Order: sequence, then structure tokens, then C-alpha cells
Amino acid sequence: MEVKRVVKEAREAFESGVTRSYSWRRSQLRALKAILLEKEADIFNALKLDLGKHRIEAYRDEVDVPLVCFPATGEIVAEPLGVVLIFSSWNFPIGLSFEPLVGAIAAGNAVVLKPSELAPASSAFLATNLPKYLDNSVKVVEGASHIGEQLLEHKWDKIFFTGSSRVGRIIMTAAAKHLTPVTLELGGKCPAIIDTLSRARDIEVTINRVAGAKWGPCSGQACIAIDYLLVEEQFAPLLVDLLKAKIKKTYKDPENSARIVHKQHFQRLSNFLNDSAVAASVVYGGSFNAESLLIEPTILLNPPLDSEIMREEIFGPLLPVITLKKIEDSIEFLKVRPKPLVIYAFTVDEKLKRRVIEETSSGSITFNDAMLQFAVDSLPFGGTGESGFGKYHGKFSFDQFSHGKAILRRSFLIELSCRYPPWNEWKLQFIRYIYRFYYIGIILMLLGLKR
Ligand code: NAD
Repeated sequence: MEVKRVVKEAREAFESGVTRSYSWRRSQLRALKAILLEKEADIFNALKLDLGKHRIEAYRDEVDVPLVCFPATGEIVAEPLGVVLIFSSWNFPIGLSFEPLVGAIAAGNAVVLKPSELAPASSAFLATNLPKYLDNSVKVVEGASHIGEQLLEHKWDKIFFTGSSRVGRIIMTAAAKHLTPVTLELGGKCPAIIDTLSRARDIEVTINRVAGAKWGPCSGQACIAIDYLLVEEQFAPLLVDLLKAKIKKTYKDPENSARIVHKQHFQRLSNFLNDSAVAASVVYGGSFNAESLLIEPTILLNPPLDSEIMREEIFGPLLPVITLKKIEDSIEFLKVRPKPLVIYAFTVDEKLKRRVIEETSSGSITFNDAMLQFAVDSLPFGGTGESGFGKYHGKFSFDQFSHGKAILRRSFLIELSCRYPPWNEWKLQFIRYIYRFYYIGIILMLLGLKR
């Protein structure tokens, strides 16, 4: 009961927002410092009772900054992690294989790449061509989930996984056996807040970008595709009309959309409409062709929030539009749901932007566009919470596949005997002294003052 209460209170404290403020962080860090200063005798006493530590040893190691390290230099050396296993997904089968490969190779690792079996031609392309162009320390293993399972039986120095959160959990469980670090690039429901419909000059661009991020690349089968829209109820009819017109103009022709990758995924998408309340919310589209695996761009207005389509990642051309009384309500709406990979917000309202940044959590945020953030290599790409963890792209990819090894270099120039027993009062005073009067301490040390 006690543990339950503590966990609940800690979460409530975080959710109240109190821990985010600068003043809270500063006051709490000061409070920590105050404990060290005011309760020094109690700390010495506890360490004596638990570990038999002399109070000078305690001060040197647990209370104070180890200035006795002076003089020294420090550096961080990037070390390759070793042999890394990369799983890529089928929706951008070449790009999502190359992107992590670049980071793994740049950091000096050997790599085994397991492309998705759901994009067999791309998988075969990688299996044929990577060995032709690259040295054999980069290998490709093709196959379905059972091959993935076999790979996971081995010890890896890093696993980089792009795929679903269901398989992400399997990956993490397997990795735990060997304490292998993992990066999980997962999916989720990326919302888009639409707050530009009262601004005539921004409407067209908003609709172009929203439609492009839903019915453009892979027909919504992208981890950063818009999953659903949030809009003020007064603007919903206008939004739906504009989206319908956009579909008719640009996305009606199957040539302009990708087909659903697999029968299984097609079935999953059509099952969303088995729920009669969801089917009743369709205001445009809704036709499915099981032969060609094509699904018409589809708009749903206010499907029930507890239905599967609003709980699961959609990953297809179905677009729910959810209405809110006020656009500011979108903050609360997002706060109580799993953290998405991206939050999109089309708005020029700086106050709303600030609230989205400060009060919601997601892998990233893009204002007034969608999907483009993936191409910006100076920004890290990755999720948080349910959408995964670990960041890559550009230099972040290099870091993701490296261990930053800390190196401290000392010389034999100065040796302070006050670091070692036998302990006496003078040594404690000396250590205090060099902490409080840093520069004087340095001078004294430079003079080689020893006892
Ligand atoms: P998936 O999880 O089904 O498969 C991904 C990989 O895992 C494949 O190579 C597959 O063969 C392998 N696999 C499947 N089952 C396995 C098992 N039991 N053991 C070991 N390996 C196994 O994912 P998917 O359906 O191919 O891809 C879609 C998902 O990927 C979506 O959720 C999407 O959001 C996500 N995704 C995320 C990103 C990102 O960068 N964050 C990018 C693209 C896709």
C-alpha cells in the first residue's frame, strides 16, 4: 500500500507540472546542497555505522567534489560498441536500413542487418548489393519473424530496431538477457492540431500539408504520418469539405497512392470499420479492394474515442477528425494519451505553441508542416515512452552506435598525502580548505605542500 501511494504521489507531482519550473529545480538542488552542509555530522555518522568509513574518507568521497584530482585533464573517446544488429521495417525499406547503417559503420561497428520480409524485393536488393559493395563485416540476413527470433538468441553489443511496439517489447526482453543496449524506433498515433482555419491565407497550405502527410508517402503507412486531426468543432465542417476536395483533386487516383503492404495489414485496417459506431462516422470514402489491397482515402468524423481506431496506431489512409470545444483542449487531450512519435500543430498562436512544447510529451514537434522533420539531420529523430527511445540521424546516429568512454589523465607531478590514511584533523581541514578556497588550494598544491 505504501509503495503504491508513493508511486502515485510521485506521478501526481510530475503531472502537476511543478518539477518543470526553473525555480523548483534550483530550490531542490539547493536543498540537496543544504543537506550536505547542514547534516554533515549525521552523514559521517551513518557512513561510519554502515561501512566503517572514517569521516575524512567520507568527506573526500561522498560529500565533496574531488578536487584532489588536480591537476588533470579529461576527454571523451568514442568507442565502437562492437557487433550490432539492425532490424528495419518494410515501409521505407531502403532508407530505414541505410540510415542506421551509416551511423553504425561511421562509429566503427560490425553490422548484421535484418530487413523486413514484407518488402521482399527491397530485402533481396540489400542482400545482393550490400555484400558486393561493402566489406564482409557488414552482413544481411533475410527472413521472417522466426529468423528474427533466431538472431535474438545471440549476444549482440547493440540492437537497433525499427518496427512495432509489440515486437519492440520482444526485442527488449531478448536484449535484457545480455544487458545489450537497444534503440527502439517505434510508432504510435501522431496527432495534428489544426488551428489555422480562421486564417484564409494559411488554409490552402495547411490542407496541402495535412493531406500530403496522410495520403502521400505510403498512404499513411509511415511512422510519422498524421494519424488523426484535432480541430475546434466550429471549423470541422469546413475542414472536412476542404479535405474531401483535396482528395478528389489529388489522391483519388490509385496511381497516386501506395497499396497496403500486406493482406494482414489490409485486414487490420478493414477491421477498424467492423465497429458499427466507427463505420457510422465515415464521412468520406470507406471503400476497400481486397484484390488490389487498395483503400480509398477515408475521413471519419468523431469515431468513439474508446474504439480501436482511436486506440491503435492506424498506419493507413483512414483519417479520424476529432472535434474539441476549444483548440486549447487539445493539450489535455494529448496529455492523457500515450506519448506519440511526433505532435504536429498548424497554428500561428505563439501561446498555443508554447503550451504544446511545455505541457505535452512526444519524440518531436513540428509546427505548420508534417514529416519534414525526418529530413533535418541536425535534429535528433526518435520517440519517447510508447513511441520508443534512443535518437539518431546525423551526428546523433554516430553517438547512438558509440560508447563515450571517459578518460582522465593525471601526471605524477603532485601527490597529496591527505588523500590517504592515516587520517587526522589536519587532513580533513586541508581537504575542506582546497574546496572552499579553490585557487589558494591550487597554489598550495603547486608549491607541493605535503604533510
Ligand atoms: P514489425 O514490428 O512487425 O516488424 C519489424 C521487424 O521485426 C521485421 O524485420 C520483422 O521481421 C521483425 N520481427 C517481427 N516479429 C519478430 C519476432 N517475434 N522476433 C524477432 N523479429 C521479429 O513492424 P512492421 O509492421 O514491419 O512495421 C510497422 C511498424 O513500424 C509501425 O508500428 C511503425 O510505426 C513502425 N515504424 C517506426 C519507424 C520509426 O522510425 N520510429 C519507422 C517505420 C516504421
